[in-house]
Amino acid sequence: MIPPIRPDILDFTPYVAGRSIDEIKAAYNLNSVIKLASNENPLGTSPRVQEVICKNAGLVFRYAQAGNPVLRNALAHRLGVPADCLVCGNGSDEIIDLLIRVLARPGKDTIVAFNPCFSMYKVQSKLCGVEFRQVPLNKDFSFPWDDLLGAADEHTRIVFVTNPDNPSGHAVPATEIAEIAARLPQKAVLVVDEAYIDFAEPAYSMLPLFKKMQNVGKMQNVVLLRTFSKLFGLAGLRLGYGIMPPKLADYLMRTRPPFSVNILAEKAGMAAIDDEDFIEATRQTVLKGKENLTQGMKALGCSVFPSQANFLLVRPPVDPAFLCEALLKKGIIIRPLASYGLDKYVRVSVGNAQENTLFLEALYEILHGR
Ligand code: PMP
Repeated sequence: MIPPIRPDILDFTPYVAGRSIDEIKAAYNLNSVIKLASNENPLGTSPRVQEVICKNAGLVFRYAQAGNPVLRNALAHRLGVPADCLVCGNGSDEIIDLLIRVLARPGKDTIVAFNPCFSMYKVQSKLCGVEFRQVPLNKDFSFPWDDLLGAADEHTRIVFVTNPDNPSGHAVPATEIAEIAARLPQKAVLVVDEAYIDFAEPAYSMLPLFKKMQNVGKMQNVVLLRTFSKLFGLAGLRLGYGIMPPKLADYLMRTRPPFSVNILAEKAGMAAIDDEDFIEATRQTVLKGKENLTQGMKALGCSVFPSQANFLLVRPPVDPAFLCEALLKKGIIIRPLASYGLDKYVRVSVGNAQENTLFLEALYEILHGR
């Protein structure tokens, strides 16, 4: 007999991750595979970061310094916020989990987000036994703010908004989000997930407003989430952080596992934020690649949504399940979106120039029956 599992966990649906290169190589007997499925950095790992990781490999027998104060200070310096506003985690996934556990009471409180949204909000709410309410996005994937506010009530503790949004790439200016924060019920915290903000135009980032308001003791109900998995190319090392009012950060710091950010992630993160050449090269690669992919896919009959992120939401002219499978056979992984409830769409991460060209060639062949 297995030990009794919590009844509300028995039907738990796990997070659906993008399929891995090794898995597809083995399943389709392929030597090389291109992955455009998880919005990773198109340039790979920065050479400077690789150097730092190799140099510090001998340190992995040690625990990291609890709470990662050196990384926190380096980030604080770069972002221009006090270090006590920052909490680092094992990916921003960990900050999502901590926020839910610190703020929302199981069986009593609610969490609100759009539908579809990044699925970890739902996965972690369910694991924490907290009701998760979703409000459908508009048909063009823009945000129906009044509906979102309508779903939040005195029991709501967190409202998640992703800006730029995943999987659509849609984004709104920070001023619009600030207005929503001001209209939320008193006990609700607005968590603005800025995982893709580094690819967006400056007016979309909440950070300047957040800093200004914190200085005058306002906007105490806003948290920003950031990750090193995209622009900084550290998805596999797991490093993310939250920027929040110090009183809330204090509780996350008290409750977080002390060593969840490992020594190599910490060293790599500090090298990555100073690696201006890599940051700029990544931005340019994404901007150019996004334009080329958009033009190329539109020419092949796809609807491509405008995106402020490093991926594109696409409605192909054929069944997405057929398209994804046909691409896999040619060694290209993109993201089907059935698990997001979008079974007519796929998501394509922007790759490097060569990957984008190979993807467009494969798409042409599939759509022309070759
Ligand atoms: N938020 C969003 C919107 C994301 O798309 C992702 C990663 N796919 C994350 C958070 C999690 O990022 P991390 O790798 O830092 O856990």
